[in-house]
Amino acid sequence: MNKSDSERISGILSHFGYEETDKEKEADLLIINTCSIRQLSEDKAYSKLGVWGKRKRNNPNIKIGICGCVAQQDKDKVRKRAPYVDLVFGTHNIYELPNLIKRIENNEKICAIKNTPVICDQNNFKIERKDSVNAWIPIIEGCNNFCTYCVVPFTRGRERSRDMNEIVKEAENIIKEGFKEITLLGQNVDSYGKDLNDKNITLANLLRKLNKLKGDFRIRFVTSYPSDITDDLINAADECEKVCKYFHIPMQSGNSRILKEMNRRYTKEEYYAIVKKIRERFPLVTITSDFIAGFPGETEEEFQDTLSAIDELELDYSNTAAYSPREFTKAGKMTDKFIPENIKYERLERLNEKNKEACIKSNKKFIGKILNVLVENITLKNGKRILNARAGNNKIVHFEDNSKNIGDFTNVKITKAQTWCLYGEPAD
Ligand code: SAH
Ligand code: SF4
Repeated sequence: MNKSDSERISGILSHFGYEETDKEKEADLLIINTCSIRQLSEDKAYSKLGVWGKRKRNNPNIKIGICGCVAQQDKDKVRKRAPYVDLVFGTHNIYELPNLIKRIENNEKICAIKNTPVICDQNNFKIERKDSVNAWIPIIEGCNNFCTYCVVPFTRGRERSRDMNEIVKEAENIIKEGFKEITLLGQNVDSYGKDLNDKNITLANLLRKLNKLKGDFRIRFVTSYPSDITDDLINAADECEKVCKYFHIPMQSGNSRILKEMNRRYTKEEYYAIVKKIRERFPLVTITSDFIAGFPGETEEEFQDTLSAIDELELDYSNTAAYSPREFTKAGKMTDKFIPENIKYERLERLNEKNKEACIKSNKKFIGKILNVLVENITLKNGKRILNARAGNNKIVHFEDNSKNIGDFTNVKITKAQTWCLYGEPAD
C-alpha cells in the first residue's frame, strides 16, 4: 500500500515540475513515506530524517517532507523529533499535495493531517509506476477489524471501497500501457464492496470483470483475511484463468486462545479448514502467511502451535515478526503480559528457522514441474543471460534464455530448488 501511495505522490509531483532522482544527495525535495506497523519501521523513518536534517543544515534550500502512517499517527512527535521538517502530511492528505507543495516552496512550514478518510481515486493525476511489469491497484483502503496488536485502523481509517468501474478503467489503462500483472490491494482485500451496499460488488465479481479484459496479463490480490474468503471467491479464482493461484492469508498465530486475544475472528481449526479447501481446489496453489512471535501472554506451548501450523499446513512461505507494542492498540496496554525481549527474539529465530524449512520443502515440490512465469528482469552472469521471473504461484524462478525479454510470459521446467528461489530451463 505504501509503494502504491508513493507512486501516486511521485505522479502528483511530476505535474508540478518535479522529476524523480535516484541520487538522493542531489534532491531538492525529499519525502519519506513511512510505515508504523512495528517500532523498527518507525525508528528507520526517524533515522533517515536525521540524515536529511544534517544535510539541510549545510543546504537550507532543501525541503523535507514526511508522510504516511508515522505522520498520521503522531504529528507532534514528528515536529518535536525533527523540527527542521517542512511538510508533514497524513495518509488522507495525498491529494492536497499540489497546494501543499506551493506553500512549502514559499517557505511555509506545514502540517496537514486530516482524520476524515478519502477514497484513493485517480483525480486526474498521473501515477508514476515504478515497476515495468506489475501495477498496484488499491481497491479498498482502511480496516474495520481492530486486531488488538495492530495500528492500521488508527492510521488508515475505516474500510472504504473504490468504485468498481473506476477500478476497471484503471486496469484497462494499465494493460494498454503494457503492464503484464495487476495486483489488487487492500488491508482486507476480500472485504471489497462490503461498504457499498450492493451485493454484486464483491472481490469475486471484480475478478470476473477484470478477467474479461482483453490482453496478455495476470491478476493477483492481497491481503486476504482468513474467515472472509468466501466460496464465491474460490470459485471466481478457479473460473478466471488470469487469476494467479496464490493466496496470502495471514494466520498470525497457530493457537486459538492467542487468536482470540488478538481479536482475530477465526480459530485454528477454522483456518486449517480454509487452507484445506483451497488446496483441494487448486493442487499447485501456494499459500503464504504472516506470524507474530511473542504476543503478550503467549506461552511456550502456544508458540509451538504456530510452529506446528507451518508444518501441518505445509505453508509455502511466511512473513514473520516479533510482537511490537503499538500506540493506541489494546495489546499495547497489556504491559503486565509482555514477553521478555530475549524470549520473544529467541521464538522469532525458531519461527524463521521453521519458515526456512517450509520454504525449501515447498520449493522442492516444484522440481520437474512446468511453471508459466513472467520475466521481471535480466542479469548478465559470466556472459550468460539470466532471466529473473515470477510464476503465478509467486515463486521466483531463474533461468538462462537468449530469446525472452522483460514482460514476456514463458514456460519453464524447474530443475533445482533453493530456499528462496527456483532454477529451471525453457520449456516452450
Ligand atoms: N491486514 C493484514 C495484515 C496487515 S499488517 C491481516 O489482517 O493479516 C501486516 C502484518 O504485520 C500483519 O499480518 C502482522 O503479522 C504484522 N503486524 C501487525 N502489527 C504488528 C505488531 N504490533 N507487531 C508485530 N507484527 C505486527
Ligand atoms: Fe491490522 Fe487486523 Fe486490520 Fe490486518 S485485519 S490491518 S492485522 S487490524
